[in-house]
Amino acid sequence: MQAGISSYQIRVQGIVQGVGFRPYVYRLAREFSLNGWVLNSSAGVFIEVEGDDGQLKEFARRLVDDPPPLALIRNCEIKEIEPQGFKDFTIRESDDQDEKTVMVSPDIAICRECQQEVANPGDRRYGYPFINCTNCGPRFTIIKDLPYDRAKTTMADFPMCPVCQEEYDNPLYRRFHAQPNACPVCGPHTQLLDKRGQAVQSTPAELLRQGYIIAVKGLGAFHLAADATNIEAVRTLRQRKRRDAKPFAVMARDLGVADKYCVMNSTERFWLTSPQAPIVVMERKEASQLSGEIIHPGINTLGVMLPYTPLHYLLFDKELELLIMTSANISDEPLITDNQEAVDKLQDVADFFLVHNREIYNSCDDSVMRVTPMLTPQLFRRARGLVPMGIIVPPRSKSVLALGGEMKNTFCITRQGEAFLSQHWGDLNHYLNYCKFQQGIERFKRMLAVEPQIIAHDLHPNYQTTRWAKEQKHIPRIEIQHHYAHMASAMAENGLEGEVLGLICDGTGWGTDGAVWGCEILRGDYRQFTRLAHLKYLPLPGGDLSARKPYRMAFVYLLETLGQEGVEIANQLLPALVSEERDIILHRWQNGLPEVRTSSCGRLFDAAAALLGICDVNRYEGQAAIELESRSDPREKGSYSFRLEENGPMWLMDVFPMWNELLDDIKKGVPVGGMAQKFHLTLVNLFVMALCRLRDETGLNRVVLSGGVFHNQIILLELIHSLQSHDFMVYQHQQVPPGDGGISLGQAIIASEVNA
Ligand code: ZN
Ligand code: ZN
Ligand code: FE
Repeated sequence: MQAGISSYQIRVQGIVQGVGFRPYVYRLAREFSLNGWVLNSSAGVFIEVEGDDGQLKEFARRLVDDPPPLALIRNCEIKEIEPQGFKDFTIRESDDQDEKTVMVSPDIAICRECQQEVANPGDRRYGYPFINCTNCGPRFTIIKDLPYDRAKTTMADFPMCPVCQEEYDNPLYRRFHAQPNACPVCGPHTQLLDKRGQAVQSTPAELLRQGYIIAVKGLGAFHLAADATNIEAVRTLRQRKRRDAKPFAVMARDLGVADKYCVMNSTERFWLTSPQAPIVVMERKEASQLSGEIIHPGINTLGVMLPYTPLHYLLFDKELELLIMTSANISDEPLITDNQEAVDKLQDVADFFLVHNREIYNSCDDSVMRVTPMLTPQLFRRARGLVPMGIIVPPRSKSVLALGGEMKNTFCITRQGEAFLSQHWGDLNHYLNYCKFQQGIERFKRMLAVEPQIIAHDLHPNYQTTRWAKEQKHIPRIEIQHHYAHMASAMAENGLEGEVLGLICDGTGWGTDGAVWGCEILRGDYRQFTRLAHLKYLPLPGGDLSARKPYRMAFVYLLETLGQEGVEIANQLLPALVSEERDIILHRWQNGLPEVRTSSCGRLFDAAAALLGICDVNRYEGQAAIELESRSDPREKGSYSFRLEENGPMWLMDVFPMWNELLDDIKKGVPVGGMAQKFHLTLVNLFVMALCRLRDETGLNRVVLSGGVFHNQIILLELIHSLQSHDFMVYQHQQVPPGDGGISLGQAIIASEVNA
């Protein structure tokens, strides 16, 4: 062996494909005058490198500490070997091995360099809507199989022209092995069509400016685009989409425009301009050009994203600065990804179609998030830009497939120390969503090259996921209570081990006693849980019907609290409660007829919103609660009474005393905003008192917060402050949604622990 010459064999795992990792290694090796080779395989990136001792050490340090911007190193093994006497450094051809442990990268928003090129009239890709490089562009949505090579993506239909090929082959260039590399000569193209599928001689921006609605084929699905500042266009879109209340997200031309419409802090700016480029829900400024009632009726926030593909730039011009960009699917059906399907299904909704000829293989919705008052990210929907990135979990040998919930469904597959959550499939009661969910499972299994050995699913006997699990006869399955899964999900993403207290504030979930749970304090770890406290039960007349109609819940609370007197008050305060409906509920209540019972926190918000005259009917999930939060006046510091009642081993959290005081406030003419705020603070006080009591009993000082109600920023902020001032350790969600989009993670961890 030559003096001072050593050799390393290195294996790197993580997101190391399609992110410019090999050219980076190549340049790094040249920088340190080292020889050897680098190779991409489905088992990771392999490197053999030799040369001067010191240089080699520095190479290894830089490799791990300073990888290319989009790479994510999960594991790096370095072994010293005998030097081979290489004469140069080379990039070897892909080698298809059986063991697939590389990860597919999520889709990445257009990078600054590509942005500059596409805007430069001198560049050969000037205005080309499919420009990309190793630092940006489509990944997950176009990948059919591993290893990640052009032939295994939907770019396989577009052979590269000689110029693109040269870029692709040059290790010193930004497009070296950029699999979707393309240019106007060889790559995909857009077409602007009318409803009959005929080409139109115009530009998308011009049509949008005239108030037309365009269906736009984007990265993961079709969107419907309309000028957000044109009230008529927005109103038309709402009518045609038959969406009367749910807020629309918008795309702002640039950060300056977003600034004009929203109150924005630097963390929100950071996320808006991040490579993930999610929709960020922010506080809305009172902007004259924007009709709040049309874009987001009843709420004071606006979901904003920036253009994340070069194609989006075609939609804007100097005058056009803000577009509605809403998923083009019809009433909760799956996302539309196919040109013909778009023209067929959106005939009555879109005036024009901006399509292209690159296939979308994996559909993927926009991710939606907000920045909490603690400046942490909170996800409503974890999808584009984040899926299929793995979440680090305790390594277990058996792979689990966890099926998630019924609404906002995601599934989760574990592979060793990582959990991979799918994109959102929506409401599985839609047959087509259910089909996509099943197809998604097959695709994830192939992408991850695992065959799960255990299935985890919700306890609810009528969930589609439960039915599906029962059909998989060859795989053992485990049922997991909904709120226990919420709790485990928050524990897992925070890396917690051992027992904790979990405060779960949620809509609905099937309880172990047959009641509909939703406001629970549990204790437990990944192996077991005990229920320690819950919101006092209440009848839920008509089940799901009452979930859609907050005024029914208000009536039930009035009856339970005030008895017959509640009927009189309901007649005054609940105009939506018609006499027939009132009499049926009353009759059943008076005669003690059996009803489903519930401890749902969501239904409690519904009741308060209806009683305060804020919202009678939920026209989308959580509407009443969102509007109640929006209307709250932060200057109000007061709260109402409640009771904490011991009932055997269980604590009952009882808000009945609140209603009398709230009704007094209504009589006194206290402004709605003040009462709404007092309602929030009452719940916070109740939860803090219950948790203090339970800490005394159990000695547990760590609290995880989960469930859809934690999207409520007043509850989240006030609760965390108050619990921390009582010396609790408090944990919340940052990587997966607090709502049902996150429960598959919890299910997966519980199942893998129980079967470890
Ligand atoms: Zn780029
Ligand atoms: Zn080309
Ligand atoms: Fe839930």
